[in-house]
Amino acid sequence: LPGAIYGGRRNSSGIEFGDRHELDEVTGNMQRSTAPVDAVPLVPGLTVKGEALTVCAPHDPSLKVGTVVFAQPSDVDAAMEAALKGFRTWSRTSAEARAVILERAADKLEAERDRLLALLAREAGKTIEDGISEVREATDFLRYYANRSREMFGAPTAMPGPTGEDNRLGWRGRGVFACIAPWNFPLAIFLGQVTAALAAGNAVIAKPAEQTPLIAYEAIRILHDAGVPGDALIFLPGEGDVGAALTKHPKLGGVAFTGSTQTAQAINRTLAAKDGPIVPLIAETGGLNAMIVDGTALPEQVADDVVMSAFRSAGQRCSALRLLFVQEDVADRMLEMIEGAARELVLGDPMLASTDIGPVIDNEQKAMLTEHVETMRKTQKVRFQGEVPAEGTFFAPTIVDLSSAEALDREIFGPVLHVVRWKARDLDTVLDKIEATGFGLTLGVHTRIEDLVRKVVDRLDTGNVYVNRNIIGAVVGTQPFGGSGLSGTGFKAGGPNYLTRFALEQVVSINT
Ligand code: GLU
Repeated sequence: LPGAIYGGRRNSSGIEFGDRHELDEVTGNMQRSTAPVDAVPLVPGLTVKGEALTVCAPHDPSLKVGTVVFAQPSDVDAAMEAALKGFRTWSRTSAEARAVILERAADKLEAERDRLLALLAREAGKTIEDGISEVREATDFLRYYANRSREMFGAPTAMPGPTGEDNRLGWRGRGVFACIAPWNFPLAIFLGQVTAALAAGNAVIAKPAEQTPLIAYEAIRILHDAGVPGDALIFLPGEGDVGAALTKHPKLGGVAFTGSTQTAQAINRTLAAKDGPIVPLIAETGGLNAMIVDGTALPEQVADDVVMSAFRSAGQRCSALRLLFVQEDVADRMLEMIEGAARELVLGDPMLASTDIGPVIDNEQKAMLTEHVETMRKTQKVRFQGEVPAEGTFFAPTIVDLSSAEALDREIFGPVLHVVRWKARDLDTVLDKIEATGFGLTLGVHTRIEDLVRKVVDRLDTGNVYVNRNIIGAVVGTQPFGGSGLSGTGFKAGGPNYLTRFALEQVVSINT
């Protein structure tokens, strides 16, 4: 299969994980082995050469999950040439046939669920509960976009016109899309982007996050097995330089990117600086997400929802809660409950049912979080920090009391909750502060006062607003997901309009 070599041992029931080995040089959770590999097929007739990289489990770096050979920037041209050929056939495949293939892939994903859960736990540190939600979300994306593609691409829409003229508006694919995915949803977001682009009739070059190439490889294999032609979907695992080379390519038809705001801005600049066709960027980036809690909120519910929003998935969701605004009169009581609930969280091996929170993805993230909390300690009050297992890249749930919201000036991607107190008459100031972050992804409101909800929603254009519940886990087709400003380009994944961004409109006018 293209691009990757599987390191796990296979048996009749699937993959067995657990090869223990000595590590000599560990960078993050990736080890560079000394054995060169010379020919991994990328597409028929094209091979990638390089070193086999070993992917190790973040919760236990001595556990080898598998190996991968990364493509290099110099492989991008050949991948593009192949994908351009793939586009010709795939874009001419009927919308119905494309939808059937995507639905077949959804069935296969469900049939292989247990293996995928194990891989999500081992490679990405996902708890079983998070893994189940992720596989669910991935299959939802496949089925949802398959249906939307039938509706949009099935038959052109008749437009009004004078007698003797037949006007029809139809949709078609744009060309070759680069899909560049993050490690925090290595299956759901990766497949969501790829499937949207394919459903809209594009060919895809898919570059997974460098931390999670193995789960991405399985996703691509499933799509190929379901019937997506090899050259219409090319797997290109690699580091950032491969993504950069892809976005620079003059023949690219568009980019779907999920990841940091800075990288999205860099891609935007690259696309703007190119000669040739003007192509779209669909970006979903970060959030400095807030929740406003007033004195009428139910404390038990707030505690549950805050802990879930800030700490589940080790806070490694762009929807996660970072900044909690709690009304001063109820703050002490609420925070005591939140802290109590956070204290109960169990960190550990993500494969164990007793584990609430797995590791953060790698040493780099752990170091960033450690440095952030240490910096906070100098000027703010760290009110709570949990315990971590001795081994692995774990980071403990942490609660920091801020003297003011401005003390947090960027997204901190991990289980760190920052708390600010507000006075009842200062709601406008709270809203000003949220707006001033420049992000607009998720927002929570806990109140029994309808007017307060209305005021918040009227004032802020945050992409996903959740009232009296947690702020994570948007459901495909129910809570289309995505934000604006520093949080992204605003078209919502899992929503009815998403595919329009991946497609071109064409009008055919016939003088009858
Ligand atoms: N869609 C996910 C959620 O609603 C977050 C996606 C992300 O972290 O990029 O929690």
